[in-house]
Amino acid sequence: MKKIVIVGAGVAGINAATKLVDNGYDGSLITIIDMGKDPYNRLPEEVMTGMLGAGGWSDGKLTYHTAIGGQLAKYTGEEKAMELMDQVITNFKRFHPKPEEVQCSNPIAEPDFIKPYFGLRLFPVWHVGTDYLSEIAKNWYDYLVSKGINFIWETKVTDINFNKNLLGYSSLPVKLGKLKSLLYDELIFAVGKSGIDFAQELANQYELPDEPKSVQIGVRFEAPQHHFQKLIDISYDFKLYRKFDNGVSLRSFCTNNNAAYVAVEETYGDVTYNGHAKKDPKYLNGMTNFGIIMEIKDIEDPFKWSRDVVNKLQSNSTGLYYSPSRKPSDTSEKNIVSSTPINLDTLNDVVKPTMEGYFQYIEDFIEDMKKVFLTLGDDWGVYIPEVKYLSPEPLVDYTNLALTKYPNVHFVGDALSARGITVSGAHGIYVAESLIK
Ligand SMILES: Cc1cc2nc3c(=O)[nH]c(=O)nc-3n(C[C@H](O)[C@H](O)[C@H](O)COP(=O)(O)OP(=O)(O)OC[C@H]3O[C@@H](n4cnc5c(N)ncnc54)[C@H](O)[C@@H]3O)c2cc1C
Repeated sequence: MKKIVIVGAGVAGINAATKLVDNGYDGSLITIIDMGKDPYNRLPEEVMTGMLGAGGWSDGKLTYHTAIGGQLAKYTGEEKAMELMDQVITNFKRFHPKPEEVQCSNPIAEPDFIKPYFGLRLFPVWHVGTDYLSEIAKNWYDYLVSKGINFIWETKVTDINFNKNLLGYSSLPVKLGKLKSLLYDELIFAVGKSGIDFAQELANQYELPDEPKSVQIGVRFEAPQHHFQKLIDISYDFKLYRKFDNGVSLRSFCTNNNAAYVAVEETYGDVTYNGHAKKDPKYLNGMTNFGIIMEIKDIEDPFKWSRDVVNKLQSNSTGLYYSPSRKPSDTSEKNIVSSTPINLDTLNDVVKPTMEGYFQYIEDFIEDMKKVFLTLGDDWGVYIPEVKYLSPEPLVDYTNLALTKYPNVHFVGDALSARGITVSGAHGIYVAESLIK
């Protein structure tokens, strides 16, 4: 058996390790290094690091669909992807102190009233319960330790020599820690979003080829909630979508309701928009907001294109707001959402040419929503722009997620192309299965 080192004790790394030892792999040959803490010492404010990674302190929503949560079916095929996600959900239930409390919401039918204008993505979501995640993490950890796996906590991997199968690590804080090294036969690189800069450094250092990416850009749409209530009753975080033959598709993204506020984000020095929902009843405002995001394929250098567009859609050091009838809303702190209101002329003369004609897709989307949600009319506004900068996805062998240049180095989870718990865990299990073979 080979010596396996897993960098990152997040959802992907832990599911990989579990699959290995469940199948008789000698746990003493597996080492997991994480810069966070074990589940008995991890503090609630340590959101991104430690046992189960960002997934360990997350909302605990396990989505179950290959179109949600990043790339999986691309590598594995649809059927295998669903089977892998099943395994992840089973693992979460297995270590749950009260598995019977894990609930599944599963809207089953597309409502007739959105047809023929939109498709609605329907997918089951398993709600683990945030409060239980730390208990799950402890039970899971105890199991892996009982199988002989060696965990190294509060320790950061600072460099990896892919040619010599050698990684360098140091206990935290790195400045004070002594640099140590470790040899591996197989490496599972599972550093999640908190390790994305390190992943990028390695990609640059080893000139790793990556997958072509698409542009993901659009607006944050906001309107009073009652216009959308009949759809919210069916699916709280509804995902309307439409796809065209020329590589453009649109989807509503990250819907917030009840106490829903548009959030200002700063990305690379420019203002872009997102949204969030508050839980405390004192914040109820009866609003709904969601992104209308276009995915545009085949744009050369999508990152540069998106950054240029975002940069041009700024005025007075902030983003833009257009509405046929409304004014920008308040934030939950009772400030006005930072934006420069524009009129229809500016929309036509500035926004549309800047988006090179693609804005028409968003206008059509809104026009069709007016046909589906009959009371909507002009009672809406859009904050411009909302953008998703997709991090580079290294090119891997689809059968085992190993780098095409280094076949014993497997990238998994958010460090590869995932954006969620089930897909990240599924990556880990998929790699473990290839190693068992
Ligand atoms: C607040 C929040 C809520 C979320 N809610 C949901 C949700 O409800 N449903 C859902 O599907 N997704 C959710 N997500 C996303 C989900 O948590 C991630 O997609 C998932 O955890 C990714 O798994 P991963 O294993 O790739 O990375 P992670 O789970 O992030 O784990 C990566 C681990 O690597 C470690 N690490 C990083 N760099 C190094 C290094 N150099 N050396 C050593 N260790 C390192 C980190 O400490 C971390 O523990 C949420 C994320 C956040 C932040």
